[in-house]
Formats: sequence, structure tokens, C-alpha cells
Amino acid sequence: MERADIVIIGGSAAGATAAVSCKRRNPGKSITVIRQEEQVSIPCGIPYIFGTLGSPQKNLIPDTLLTSNGVQIVISAAEKIDRKRKLVHTAKGEQISYDRLILATGSSPVVLPIPGIEKENVFIVKKEVGYLQKMLEEVNKSSDIVIIGGGFIGAEFADECKKNRQANVTIIEKLPHCLQLAFDDELCIEAEKVLKDRGIKIVGNDTVAAILGDNKVKSVRLTGSEIKADVVIVSTGVSPNTELAARAGLRVDDMTGGIVVDRYQRVEGDADILACGDCAMKVSYYNGKPLKTWLASIATNEARLAASNVFVTQYAGLGVVGVFSTQIGELAIAAAGLTERQALAEGYDIVVGQAKAPSKHPGGMPGAVPTSVKLIFSKNNGVMLGGEASGSISVGELINVISACIQHNMTAYQVSLFQMGTHPALCASPIAYQTVNAAEEAVMKLR
Ligand SMILES: Cc1cc2nc3c(=O)[nH]c(=O)nc-3n(C[C@H](O)[C@H](O)[C@H](O)COP(=O)(O)OP(=O)(O)OC[C@H]3O[C@@H](n4cnc5c(N)ncnc54)[C@H](O)[C@@H]3O)c2cc1C
Repeated sequence: MERADIVIIGGSAAGATAAVSCKRRNPGKSITVIRQEEQVSIPCGIPYIFGTLGSPQKNLIPDTLLTSNGVQIVISAAEKIDRKRKLVHTAKGEQISYDRLILATGSSPVVLPIPGIEKENVFIVKKEVGYLQKMLEEVNKSSDIVIIGGGFIGAEFADECKKNRQANVTIIEKLPHCLQLAFDDELCIEAEKVLKDRGIKIVGNDTVAAILGDNKVKSVRLTGSEIKADVVIVSTGVSPNTELAARAGLRVDDMTGGIVVDRYQRVEGDADILACGDCAMKVSYYNGKPLKTWLASIATNEARLAASNVFVTQYAGLGVVGVFSTQIGELAIAAAGLTERQALAEGYDIVVGQAKAPSKHPGGMPGAVPTSVKLIFSKNNGVMLGGEASGSISVGELINVISACIQHNMTAYQVSLFQMGTHPALCASPIAYQTVNAAEEAVMKLR
């Protein structure tokens, strides 16, 4: 029997981060990661295997991240947790005892009950290197690719599948627009325009009734039409992997499907077990209600929280703000917190401020791109509820600044007087700085 002070099950975003963070905080403790894959794909990089990267081998979390930090890796599926004896049993017959256990078993793609979904060349987006290699080979041979689900994964797949390939690519989305769960309509429409300009067909407001073909897919039947397909990619969401935890008697939340944890990532009813990442239940930053949002950025935040609380209770999580960013063609879009639609649905009285300016100054600087910021504030107290941005590469960090403002409950007045640094080659002009000007517009409306 082996022993480690901390055993972590799962070696992806949450598991790897928890291991490194635990080691940093407890250099003298032994840490073992049990994971079922030989190689771990970087989940967020998966769409880029199909265009920009060109191979699953170029999209791996390196084992040296763990081994160089003195973390042991056991490659096997954890099959059973014996909580009384504090032991994990693996599929290869190992028994590993723990002082503390961190569950980071992640999520798996949802398989919709569409007739024909089991046919050859219908792929759900699994995070497995071998599966992704086979999927890439079939995508490379295909001339008609249909993507079911136009969330950020579906949109990124469509964009990447169109790179270096002549294939027809169609997205089927049941909502009126792609990306609508993460962004307000104007950004969805902007992103859809880029997709369409790149030759991608979008069918909104429609669902797939059946996937047709003999053994192999030949077409996809919608409510009133049929689309030729030799590859179908299904990206319709994920659900948490909680079977192992449930078998060990840990409670799983009905609404989100996640392992019930407190704000310290400790599971209910066992002081020696914590859970983080997609497998763990999440609550909203705004109202503490259970939330179905699964992101690597949340998973790693929870992993760091779990690591900080593994032996002593230190830091409580804030709840999920939710920061989404993506790039379609050259257009980058991002959102933090509540969109305007979500804020209204939550019953907030809101004020919106907007500003647009080139990403560098003057606007004639090479590489300057029009960049917009939209901020949403509560009308009652002026506190920022959410923000969205569109433009180019700078949007990725711009939205993180907006997220920081949300997490510190900054008001429109405070953001309008925010002290930023600017440089012609790097940022918008200090006169036209979008976040500050959008907040100032909101201040005028709040008066
Ligand atoms: C295509 C795609 C693109 C994405 N893009 C983004 C993005 O741009 N930004 C973002 O923030 N998020 C993105 N996400 C979401 C993000 O990938 C997930 O939130 C993140 O992977 C969660 O990490 P995790 O470690 O909790 O779970 P997972 O990545 O699911 O990893 C769980 C690991 O545990 C292992 N495991 C499970 N059960 C066992 C067991 N019994 N024994 C041993 N090992 C086990 C699994 O095999 C897996 O390796 C994307 C997701 C996908 C699929």
C-alpha cells in the first residue's frame, strides 16, 4: 500500500493546479495525483487542435509541471474511496492512503438523446488525446462538418475547422443566436457576422431531430430541413463527474449535479475531503444560488482555494462571477459577471454605460483596433454588476480588470475615477479610455 499526505484525483486544470498549489503551501508534504490518462489535453486548447495547432500532441499539460514540483503521478482510474480507512482504490489494484483527499474529477460532455447520435463520425468533445486524434483525422477527410451547439466551444470549433480546409461548416443552435448564454445580443451578432464572413453557415432557432446514415453519419435532420454531414461535432454542454464521490456517500446537488462543497471547497460530511473544478457545486457571486457554469478559470480558482484550506481553514471563495472570453477570426469578445439580459432577468434595475475607442493611440498606430466596453451597474447603489468588451487581443485582460472591479463592488463613480496607465503602443488613449468613459456615462445617467 502506498501513502501520501495529500491525494488528488484528476490531473487536469483543477487537479494539476491543486497539486502545485498544495506543494507550494506545504513543501514538506507528499502529494500524489491519480489520473486516468497517460497524457492530459489542455481542455481550453482542444478546438485549436483542429486548425491553429494541428495536433493533439501540441496541446498537452506537461507532466514536468507536477514532477518538477515533487508531485507523484499514478496513472489509473480511481475506482473506490474507502472513507473509513482513508484509502483510494484504483483500477490497477493499487491502494493509496491519504491524510487529505482532493476530488478534481471534472466533467464529461452531455450526450443528447438524439436518434442516431451513436453513428460513426459523430463526436462529442471528449478531453482524451486518442479520441481527439481520431476526430482530427476524420475532420481532415471531411467536406461537410455540422456542429451541434453554438456556445463558445461550438463557435471556436467552427472557426478552427474552417482554417486550412475547404469543408462546409454549419452550426446548429437552438437559441436565436450563437454565444447567447454568455453575451448580450449585440456581441453575439458581431461574432456571428465574423463567422458568416468566414463562410460558416449558422442555423439559429432550430434543433437536430435526428442524425441520419447507415453506420456512418450522412446528414442531419432539423425540424424542417436536412443538412449533408460527414462529421458531426456535438458541443451541447457538460455534466460533472460525480459517480466516484456519490459511491463514497458524498452528497451531489440536484440542480447543478456537482459535489456539495462549502465556500472553503470542503465536501459536506467529511472534514478530510475537498472538491474543486467542474465536479464541484458552484454558487453565484451575486446571490449564492447554485450555478451551472463550468470554466477552467473557475476550476483553478477553486483548486487554489482547496489547497489553501487543505490543512487549515483560511480562505472562503466569493462565489462565481463568471468570466468568458473567446476569439472568432480576429474578433475578441469577453464578458464578466451579469450581462444586461441576465441582470434584468435577476430583477435588477440597471444603468448601462458604453464607450468605444481604438485599442492604441492615435488610432493610426499599427495594429490599433476599435474596442468597445459596455458596463452594467445597479441603479440602486451604482455597483458594477457586469461588463462586456469586444475588439482584439487586449480584450482578454481588459475583461479581467472589469472582473476585479466587480469583485471589489466598485461603483460607477469609483470606476470613472479609476487610475490607469496608458501608452500609445499598448492601450487606448487616456482621454478615450473605454472602461473609465463607459463608467462616466453611467454616472451621468445615475445622477
Ligand atoms: C473544448 C473546450 C474548450 C474550453 N475552453 C475554455 C476556455 O477557453 N476558458 C475556460 O475558462 N474554460 C474553458 N473550458 C472549460 C474547461 O475546460 C473546464 O472547466 C476545465 O477543464 C475543468 O477542469 P477540471 O480539472 O475540473 O476538469 P476536467 O478538465 O474535466 O478534468 C478532470 C480530470 O479528472 C480525470 N478523472 C475523472 N474521474 C477520474 C477517476 N475516477 N480517476 C482518475 N481520474 C479521473 C479525468 O479523466 C480528467 O483528466 C473549455 C472546455 C472545453 C471542453
